[in-house]
Amino acid sequence: MKVLKFGGTSVGSAQRMKEVANLIVDGQKKIVVLSAMSGTTNTLVEISDYLYKRNPEAANETINKLAEKYDGVVEALYETAESKAEVRAFLQERFDFLRTFTGNLFTLFEEKIVLAQGELLSTNMFTFMLKERKVQVALLPALEFMRVDKNGEPNQEYIRENLGKLLAQHSDTELFITQGFICLNAYGEVDNLKRGGSDYTASLIGAAVKASEIQIWTDIDGMHNNDPRVVDKTSPVSHLHFEEAAELAYFGAKILHPTCILPAKLGNIPVRLLNTMQPDAFGTMISNKTEKGKLKAVAAKENITAIKIQSGRMLLAYGFLRKVFEIFETYQTPIDMIATSEVGVSLTIDNNKHLQEIIDELKKFGTVSVDTDMVIVCVVGDLDSENVGFEAQVLNALNGIPIRMISYGGSNYNISLLVKDADKKRSMQALSDHLFNA
Ligand code: ADP
Ligand code: ASP
Ligand code: MG
Repeated sequence: MKVLKFGGTSVGSAQRMKEVANLIVDGQKKIVVLSAMSGTTNTLVEISDYLYKRNPEAANETINKLAEKYDGVVEALYETAESKAEVRAFLQERFDFLRTFTGNLFTLFEEKIVLAQGELLSTNMFTFMLKERKVQVALLPALEFMRVDKNGEPNQEYIRENLGKLLAQHSDTELFITQGFICLNAYGEVDNLKRGGSDYTASLIGAAVKASEIQIWTDIDGMHNNDPRVVDKTSPVSHLHFEEAAELAYFGAKILHPTCILPAKLGNIPVRLLNTMQPDAFGTMISNKTEKGKLKAVAAKENITAIKIQSGRMLLAYGFLRKVFEIFETYQTPIDMIATSEVGVSLTIDNNKHLQEIIDELKKFGTVSVDTDMVIVCVVGDLDSENVGFEAQVLNALNGIPIRMISYGGSNYNISLLVKDADKKRSMQALSDHLFNA
């Protein structure tokens, strides 16, 4: 069985939904994960923001605009007047439900319910459309099987068991549709897998059903060798190792949710990145195969803060780094990069929520300095230390750009460099020009 995920743009209009239907109806058993139509989750975030700020008028106005947009989709998506009426009644009920939030207390709990509506809308509308076309299909409610635990980690046992039960109820069905992104949390409340999390849904389902392949269908022909939003002349990478893809996703390649590679890697399930607008393009194949001797791609992660602790007295004495790390642990702040020397240690974080507390604690151990607005630029490929000269190519490409930190050797697949946000674009462009387009 294959698992196919279609992102927001791929289901972003009636026309796109029809194209997805043409792609998936081929008699082969599959689970199809859908995102919300593009723009919807952002609008739901905006509605929540108005509700938090006790501005029910603006929330209602935004809900009405969204409802109008969906009404236009209904007109274009369905053939018969009966179908249109049926879907309009469904939408009326969903939008009325959204309007109930404008009169009441609004907390994180309600916000999660509001954010879940996008995927509930898209999957129901899509399933209605397939049924109108007389396709045999079952809609699997994600809230009946997708669940995270107290730490926000997927409860894989629960997912496997409950998804298995649902699939068994439809043993004669070939085509299943379900919602990406949404889940229940440890307390049985509606929650989600963070923005962009539909990719994660697809890989968790793929792992649960031991799929033969996970396909992530989006609006571009695979993972490109640099961020096409930032850099000119990027091109698709045909093959990536799981580790390479995970590094790129973690360090900013938006095409993949950062955590979505792990379940596929653990289950050794190949992940294909494919383009809904160009279905014949090869895209990218992510698997456990390494291509030797190649630098593959560049990604960048913004909003990084670098913290330097200098202490002639204690540094590199045993136990010192532990004390430093414990401070970050106490404030639940993950560290991305580290560089050490005899007199100091520099590290980076991407979450400044507890920055002041962390600095206050670190000051007990040495002199602390902080640089905000930094960017980690990450080059991924076969960066085994035996490949003499690869890291030199990377550094040569960045000749003339100030580099604050370098991290190499943490894995065989990555070299990361910390630069100022102002140097992000020219660093990424220089890497493309020297490594891929020379
Ligand atoms: P979806 O809505 O299908 O989940 P996303 O917008 O999340 O799609 O991801 C696709 C987008 O990721 C592309 O349109 C592209 O702008 C962006 N992107 C960033 N880095 C890369 C990269 N290295 N390769 C391909 N796409 C990238
Ligand atoms: N709809 C969600 C979002 O916009 C999840 C996703 O598209 O992956 O973040
Ligand atoms: Mg996405």
